[in-house]
Amino acid sequence: MTPTKTSKKSTPYTRFQTTLGEVFEKIDLSAAERKLLSEPQAIHRDTITIKKDDGKKATYPAFRVQFSNARGPYKGGIRFHPEADLDEVKALAALMAIKTAVVGIPFGGGKGSVQCDPKDLSKRELQEISRAYIRAFAPHLGADIDCPAPDVNTTPEIMAWMRDEYEKMTKSYAPAMITGKPLAYGGSLGRDTATARGGFFILQELVERDALDPSELRVVIQGFGNAGGHMAELLHGAGFTIVAVSDSHGGIYNAEGLDPVRIEKYKRKNGTVAGEYCTGSVCDLERMKMDGVQRITNEELLELPCDILIPAALDNVITEANAKKIHAKLILELANGPTTPEADVILEKKGVKVIPDVLANAGGVTVSYFEWVQGRSGEQWTAERVDHDLKRIMLSAFRAVRRTAYREKMTYREAAFAVGLRRIVEAMRARGWVES
Ligand code: NAD
Repeated sequence: MTPTKTSKKSTPYTRFQTTLGEVFEKIDLSAAERKLLSEPQAIHRDTITIKKDDGKKATYPAFRVQFSNARGPYKGGIRFHPEADLDEVKALAALMAIKTAVVGIPFGGGKGSVQCDPKDLSKRELQEISRAYIRAFAPHLGADIDCPAPDVNTTPEIMAWMRDEYEKMTKSYAPAMITGKPLAYGGSLGRDTATARGGFFILQELVERDALDPSELRVVIQGFGNAGGHMAELLHGAGFTIVAVSDSHGGIYNAEGLDPVRIEKYKRKNGTVAGEYCTGSVCDLERMKMDGVQRITNEELLELPCDILIPAALDNVITEANAKKIHAKLILELANGPTTPEADVILEKKGVKVIPDVLANAGGVTVSYFEWVQGRSGEQWTAERVDHDLKRIMLSAFRAVRRTAYREKMTYREAAFAVGLRRIVEAMRARGWVES
């Protein structure tokens, strides 16, 4: 990878374009193909207005970006977050198009958001927003058109409200119009743990190949939600040593190892990963000392001594400013876009292996695909079948990326982009969108 100039106004979408530009230099594509791969096919935007519990009205910007449907219906989550603006959603939609191609499932890429803060919303208000989102974008959605899913701050319950609203509006039975639903209303077994499990299969393959002992591998995880929380439990169960975890309130560190099951229990009770020791900013220091636990910030967490670092929260956290200070030898990106292109250059020089988001977190969309298949066929797959097929797809994608990285002297991120982009272009050529 050639050193990249630091862009003054770096945004999620400019960061995506930087990586895209670097990969374009290494793979042979026509100008027309590059153009089609560089911008979304459609951008839909609206403003959602709801009545708050206090009777006042509140409005929120909302987006659905459809990046590419060359390989199948647009596919990608809906994020509820104050910073999820159009630029961020465009970048996430583009990553989805590459991700679905890397794992070879018949989807394109899309993404949506509502710029709201769920922490300020009651359950009734959340439901209002979810239903209003579907009313705003329904003409652009559907099992064969664009199929959303959960993302940051959106849950199976929210997916169920959305499907219900869509079915009411269209007077239809539409189990495959959205994925990540609760089991009782068209969900798939294994969807809740799929993102973590997909990344876990890759880690397992790496560890087995190098005959490493998991208990000697120290793991740091940023974010303890769906992706990070499940990953912590899976790794702990497989004997890895989880030395630090965090959430939006900060993290905890224990060089001897933490128990994610206990952390999850106290997080549920007290709201944070430090919940066993702290209520708000007040901590039981005596007890922390006895257990060998320290409170740390999210910035400190990334720089801890460890072997494996797993960003599983938001984007843009590993940057030019901290990449030099990262100790991990391997970074597995469960979050989307956690590493900037400038940081990638530094990490490559340091010899840090980065398993990129478009591969590492593709387990989620892969089991979403299984859910979509089940919704269309009326079948209910067993957990064993989901797990077996997820492992097969993840390992096949990982091996294709590793082969490309090795043969074409690329980083894993470049190789994953190369594999995904080539597959999208093959579909565009087959459809006659560009000359073959
Ligand atoms: P989530 O809402 O379940 O969890 C997010 C976690 O990040 C929470 O623990 C939250 O406290 C923490 N967090 C929020 N802001 C933070 C900050 N500034 N610093 C540290 N931690 C912070 O979301 P999720 O579904 O686990 O998604 C996390 C990441 O994984 C996102 O980038 C998402 O796009 C990506 N991802 C998720 C899935 C999935 O299936 N859930 C699939 C692919 C990618």
